[in-house]
Amino acid sequence: MLSNQLLSWYSSNKRDLPWRLTKDPYKIWISEIMLQQTQVATVIPYYKKWMSSYPDIKTLACADYDNVLKHWEGLGYYSRCKNIHLTAKSLGKDFPDTFNELIKLPGIGEYTAKTILAIAYNKQEVGVDTNLERVGFRLLGLKRKSKFNRNRVKKFLETNQDKSKPGDFNQALMDLGSSFCQAKVVHCSPCPITSECKATLNADPLKYPEPQKNKPIPNINVSVCIVCYRDRLLILQRPQNKMLSGLWEFPGGKIEPGESPEAAAIREIKEETNLSILSPDYIGEVKHQYSHFKVTISLFLKNVNSIKMLKIKENYVWTTMKGLDKFALPKANYKMLELLNK
Ligand code: SF4
Repeated sequence: MLSNQLLSWYSSNKRDLPWRLTKDPYKIWISEIMLQQTQVATVIPYYKKWMSSYPDIKTLACADYDNVLKHWEGLGYYSRCKNIHLTAKSLGKDFPDTFNELIKLPGIGEYTAKTILAIAYNKQEVGVDTNLERVGFRLLGLKRKSKFNRNRVKKFLETNQDKSKPGDFNQALMDLGSSFCQAKVVHCSPCPITSECKATLNADPLKYPEPQKNKPIPNINVSVCIVCYRDRLLILQRPQNKMLSGLWEFPGGKIEPGESPEAAAIREIKEETNLSILSPDYIGEVKHQYSHFKVTISLFLKNVNSIKMLKIKENYVWTTMKGLDKFALPKANYKMLELLNK
């Protein structure tokens, strides 16, 4: 039987992960949100640091958001962090234990709600993310990623869920999906559930489900200018309703069609700070990729002698290079600093 084979393999092969040492729903929740779109190895140090600062929901609810964001810096998909803080503040202390309550919380979807219920509360739920779905498609030998087939996979996993250890069943499938049964690599011979799997009977199990064609990722050209005044750098806080909200960055923006990178830097500084600058020094080019687009950044530096005309709508700070450590910056800004300090 599928669950017996899975659980017996899992009991002696499970990954040693810090969030597996607990059944605390708060800790399971944080780990699950951090793990979305992010590798386990990347998450571990973030999770440990987070738990040493915010060991429970109450501590997190009372924490200042700038500090919380600093703990998330570099993990990406920053709306996750914002939603975690909003949820902690709305709950205050206790964590809900029903699907209907969990699903209403910011940033908690069906997968996360069901995974928390299975692992923390031992409820008969299966949280099906892309990894578990892939394993399910292969077990059933399904190719087409239609809504109908996805529902079949969900039902199949729910039907085969282990009655006494639902959390382990979920986590065993997670481990299987990241070891033997990866998206682009399969190791069927040592896989503990080969006898239950239809895809392995085929010459190429990787065709289950059929791989989706990736859309080309657009590139955006951007100019950024590090403005210095008396050895301090200007950083602005990104507004709440925008991507990377709450993070701090150097001023800049998109290069308009027909505009040179230098002209764009001068215009952006005028628009964002009301400072008129001339001939900023070109430092170099930085490339960075987000989930749905790439940016090519032309980086400039300008020392200004006066900030009398300075007018900025957003929150802003003049900071020393060392003082930057206190602020949460997007990864691309660290790449710019690296280039500047070369
Ligand atoms: S037998 Fe192969 S395709 Fe099937 S679940 Fe195991 S690793 Fe995946």
